[in-house]
Amino acid sequence: RLMVELRSTAKTYLNGHNALLDVNLAVKQGEFLFITGPSGSGKSTLLKLLYGEELPTQGEVIVDGCDVACLRGDRLSLFRRRIGIVFQDYKLIPQRTVAENVTVVLQAQGYTRKEIQRRLEPTLKLVGLLNKADCFPEKLSGGEQQRVSIARAIIATPPLLLADEPTGNLDPDNSWQIMQIFQKLNSFGATVIVTTHDEQLVRRCGHRVVQVHNGRLHQITE
Ligand code: ADP
Ligand code: ADP
Repeated sequence: RLMVELRSTAKTYLNGHNALLDVNLAVKQGEFLFITGPSGSGKSTLLKLLYGEELPTQGEVIVDGCDVACLRGDRLSLFRRRIGIVFQDYKLIPQRTVAENVTVVLQAQGYTRKEIQRRLEPTLKLVGLLNKADCFPEKLSGGEQQRVSIARAIIATPPLLLADEPTGNLDPDNSWQIMQIFQKLNSFGATVIVTTHDEQLVRRCGHRVVQVHNGRLHQITE
């Protein structure tokens, strides 16, 4: 079963820029995929197509059986709940504690307090932040802040996890820690797609790699 399928997909932005050209990609359920390529090559655009932040100008984007381009409004919101997303810059709320940052989305989605409590501890434990639950983001290192954002992305156990340059602001040790968390989630069954230009990290992990170059996708390994 495929989790992600792009068929002859292209994205031209409104200013005429061709960010992606004739991209074909299939990612199986349970796979771990790296997307590499230089800055500006189209990696973020590819991920944005997967979570419906941008629409393709040609071709199809099928995620978890849904044609993403056909989703609007409530159906798009429900679809996005099945995707965890991690960004380079963490996007934490400064005035909220770690626990609040991780659970704010569940609250908005109407999970009960009991269910939120049930999920919080194992999630913080998985990212190694159980002892930081009541801290505010500014007191944390970059690596810890990124682990908070991962906890937020996975607390609802989405089957697909997307990460856009998640280690772009981190040193090699912290980057490796982050990758180990992604690998653990993958071993629990999540499909994981990570963009990065850190070739060394990619080699060290040994998963399938595709490269985007000038908007075109090249298969590097199977
Ligand atoms: P990467 O993630 O590999 O750095 P992006 O997908 O962010 O690449 O960008 C690919 C290209 O598309 C870049 O040239 C970028 O400037 C351009 N681009 C990205 N977003 C937009 C947008 N909203 N409008 C116009 N051009 C964009
Ligand atoms: P990223 O590196 O994560 O793609 P960027 O800093 O490139 O982020 O882009 C930040 C925002 O600006 C995104 O929403 C992107 O779509 C938009 N953007 C990027 N490049 C351009 C561009 N050339 N023209 C218009 N918008 C752009």
